[in-house]
Amino acid sequence: TGKRVINFGAGPAKIPETVMEQAEREFRNFNGTGIGVAETSHRSAQFTELLNSTKKLFVEELHIPSNYEVLFLHGGGTGQFAGVPLNLSAFSKNKEQPTADYIVTGAWSGKAVDEAKKFIHVNKVFEPTKPYTGPPVVDTWKRDPDAAYLYYCANETVHGIEFPKAPETLPGVPLVADVSSNFISKRFDFTDHGIVLGGAQKNLGTAGLTVAIVRQDLIGKEQPITPGILSYAEMLKNNSVYNTPSTFSIYITKLVLEWIRENGGVDGLAERNQAKADLLYQAIDNSDGFYSNNIVPEYRSRMNIPFRVGGGDADLEAAFIKEATAAGMLCLKGHRSVGGIRASIYNSVTLDEVQVLVDFMAEFKAKH
Ligand code: PMP
Repeated sequence: TGKRVINFGAGPAKIPETVMEQAEREFRNFNGTGIGVAETSHRSAQFTELLNSTKKLFVEELHIPSNYEVLFLHGGGTGQFAGVPLNLSAFSKNKEQPTADYIVTGAWSGKAVDEAKKFIHVNKVFEPTKPYTGPPVVDTWKRDPDAAYLYYCANETVHGIEFPKAPETLPGVPLVADVSSNFISKRFDFTDHGIVLGGAQKNLGTAGLTVAIVRQDLIGKEQPITPGILSYAEMLKNNSVYNTPSTFSIYITKLVLEWIRENGGVDGLAERNQAKADLLYQAIDNSDGFYSNNIVPEYRSRMNIPFRVGGGDADLEAAFIKEATAAGMLCLKGHRSVGGIRASIYNSVTLDEVQVLVDFMAEFKAKH
């Protein structure tokens, strides 16, 4: 393909090479129809078939239990920050003032709280301390017994904090997981989960498609003011075609799911993702402090790996980005709110590509 660069971007992120090639080939002629998928009606038989087969692949590849519905939505993870409380507040035992429990482990769960507050009373189960390095022990969490749900961000994209397993919840209180940045990166244990949600633009394709996997018993009790496009009941009733869905994104996600199937499924991904993360963390930890990552080891993300150079030396970090970019490694700059370096190594990034970064890190260290 002549493509000589590696995309370590946090999202929108790298799309598998073969998916890009197929999409390029089919852009003007989808399934032999003579027109492209992006110019095909969302009510056509062709698109309906595409949507249904994408959903089926999704259920199979992520091993989603049969008591869940897969909804293809709009508005990104951010839309769901509002969608979740709007749809679930009725499940709070406090009918006067519905409440929900939130675990804040970084920027994205923090944003989820800010949005949810408009629609429900939010109880943070602990007061987050910065810099974020991982949640405090469960014993110190303050749970609201009336909470409609317990919300957590399974992988904090900015801060590089990932739950190794779901947090414990109280009996009967469903978990809500934001998996925007670790969707289908390993098997997901759906036990106790009410909603599992995320945007497609990191592990599943392009921006525009938001997926919510919703337990059936939680559908249909949304607040009366819930906009149609955020209502799980409305979306389910219409097979996710309540209005024009993000047709092209759904198409790309289908190709990504086929790529996953052809490459060992979710278990194959899990194994490769762990190997990639181990390789990079070893390079950081074995650098005599030249590179550093301060996340509690158990909570280190396998997807987004932030690190400092020279303990956060601005000149060194700028040089790192500059030289890495010149060497063809793109989008390594840490999020603007935290600085430093961040390597996002989603499903589509290969072990070989991580090795190129690790080799570069050794060279950079020797030189500086
Ligand atoms: N949650 C997480 C964990 C994210 O990483 C992001 C986006 N980076 C969001 C939510 C927000 O997603 P969107 O931009 O699709 O609304």
